[in-house]
Amino acid sequence: MKRVVVTGAGGFIGGHLVKALIAKGYHVHGVDKKPLNQWYQVTEEADNLVLDLTTKENCYQAVNGYHEVFNLAADMGGMGFIETHKADCMLSVLINTHLLMAARNKGIDRFFYASSACVYNASKQTDTDNPGLRESDAYPAMAEDGYGWEKLFSERMCRHFHEDYGIIVRVARFHNVYGPYGTYDGGREKAPAALCRKVIDGELNGVKDIVIWGDGHQTRSFMYIDDCIKGILAIMYSNIEEPINLGSSEMVSINQLADMAEEIGGFKLNRSYDLSAPKGVRGRNSKNTLIRHYLNWEPSIPLMEGLKKTYTWIREQMIEAKESNKHVRFN
Ligand code: NAD
Repeated sequence: MKRVVVTGAGGFIGGHLVKALIAKGYHVHGVDKKPLNQWYQVTEEADNLVLDLTTKENCYQAVNGYHEVFNLAADMGGMGFIETHKADCMLSVLINTHLLMAARNKGIDRFFYASSACVYNASKQTDTDNPGLRESDAYPAMAEDGYGWEKLFSERMCRHFHEDYGIIVRVARFHNVYGPYGTYDGGREKAPAALCRKVIDGELNGVKDIVIWGDGHQTRSFMYIDDCIKGILAIMYSNIEEPINLGSSEMVSINQLADMAEEIGGFKLNRSYDLSAPKGVRGRNSKNTLIRHYLNWEPSIPLMEGLKKTYTWIREQMIEAKESNKHVRFN
């Protein structure tokens, strides 16, 4: 039986990945620094371990006796978090560095690294009408300050551990991922969850106003979690040796995303715009030529379809929280 480690298993994508790997019949070791009662999903069939992976010793312990590593652990969040926690984001470099060293010394066969569209050069993202970022657009480097630079550096570490030590490494650059069992409150949430929460707040608590960060014309694409998990597994077990986009190419503006959340909720709010709030680059989309070439596949779940599922899940959580008098479920 294949024995695999998933780091960041208590987080959004890691929690879903553990479930998918268990369903494939793998023996899964889920690792996260958060106490188990704060994991977004706990899969009983996995071995779940609480460890801070910034230290070398803990990384050695985490991978010992396993064949493969999926590294999804990172200190991260939406724009509101990464623009105000640059040093914290950069410290995730310790996780990937120590995990690669442990992988090399403990004979790990395959290593997956979760990179991000934040590695792309900012000068390629100044227009709302973004034609899609190609993988080559990461260089010359001008990544998102803090979080993006750490991702770009860690990608490079992966590349050189492959070249110098022969570890098989796969790197995917995720473009905004959303879905159930993700953060929707507390400061780390991303736009789809935040906008759903604001509309639901209107529906459940009578809030009539919604504040959009920026002017609402900035554009992004959003990938539903099922596509993300499918893509991670396909890339991990492929022959793709270079960092590759894993994202939807259905680009929308933040205003359009808010329209969708309101349509799902059947509820309109008074919109105002906070131009001083963190808003990130002007336009970002995923160019999927390379992933189609290699895998004959690309993320394709329509945003409206995924957003409905996400909205329904967040609504359930908010009703549950309201009934038990808790405002925030996840910190
Ligand atoms: P998440 O915050 O839900 O999960 C990350 C998990 O890593 C958390 O549970 C956190 O506790 C854990 N972690 C942080 N520091 C740790 C440490 N020192 N030791 C052990 N565990 C630690 O985030 P996510 O959305 O599931 O993202 C997973 C990965 O995908 C991250 O590497 C992230 O940078 C990357 N990514 C995500 C997105 C997205 O839209 N969600 C986009 C691009 C890249």
